[in-house]
Amino acid sequence: LASRLNHPEPTVVSIGNVKIGDGSVTVIAGPCSVEGREQIIEIASELQKAGAHMLRGGAFKPRSSPYSFQGLGETGLKFLAEAREATGLPIVSEVMDIENLSMACEYIDVVQIGARNMQNYPLLKAVGRTTKPVLLKRGLSATIEEWLMSAEYILSEGNPNVVLCERGIRTFETATRNTLDLNAIPVIKHLSHLPIIVDPSHGTGIARYVCAMSMAAVAAGADGLILEAHQSPESALSDGQQSITPNEFSELMHQVEVLVTAC
Ligand code: PEP
Ligand code: MN
Repeated sequence: LASRLNHPEPTVVSIGNVKIGDGSVTVIAGPCSVEGREQIIEIASELQKAGAHMLRGGAFKPRSSPYSFQGLGETGLKFLAEAREATGLPIVSEVMDIENLSMACEYIDVVQIGARNMQNYPLLKAVGRTTKPVLLKRGLSATIEEWLMSAEYILSEGNPNVVLCERGIRTFETATRNTLDLNAIPVIKHLSHLPIIVDPSHGTGIARYVCAMSMAAVAAGADGLILEAHQSPESALSDGQQSITPNEFSELMHQVEVLVTAC
């Protein structure tokens, strides 16, 4: 079902007025984690003014350490819904387990399946039985074939609205947090009809490299970007080192616009 062979025309996933895969570049931005009501509403309105199309923010966080901030849970989802109310931006947030899926679906517009859950087959089947669009991140060490098979789990349960997200893979390189595999864009475009967006924040792990890799992703044909942004990255509760400020986001949006016009 994910293959282009029996489905040559590209899939366009609609989230309200936002369309992913229609040839435009959809930009999703927001903090790694929802940290509080004011924080998420304030950053959402700044990002919306700078041209973001959707808002991201984690309420359930898959942290490497159990002692790190785990997210605000349902309270965080409520704050996200308030931020949507204030800005009109649809929201994407990660769901980590089946227990919280139907509750989370009452608040969010797109369900993010994180890299660590790309091969959580019961969870994939469960989101496949919902009607919510799904943002399926590539696993930390997953091949493109394995990633597409995970998409297949969702599609085969009846949910056609899958957006793939390349977020970097584990390699021997340590200069960056992950190695952003931009090869995945033309490979996915060749093999599948599903849209693909790129996450240069997790792909690099370092804010100063995010703009260059955003441009590279768009030039390679990505259908969109998902970017971590924070009012004060140095005090963020998660992923501050890879988060850009609203001003940097605004600058990035200008550069992307110039690139899109030139293409
Ligand atoms: C995130 O988007 O904040 C996140 C945890 O991403 P990933 O699953 O790609 O690590
Ligand atoms: Mn993050």
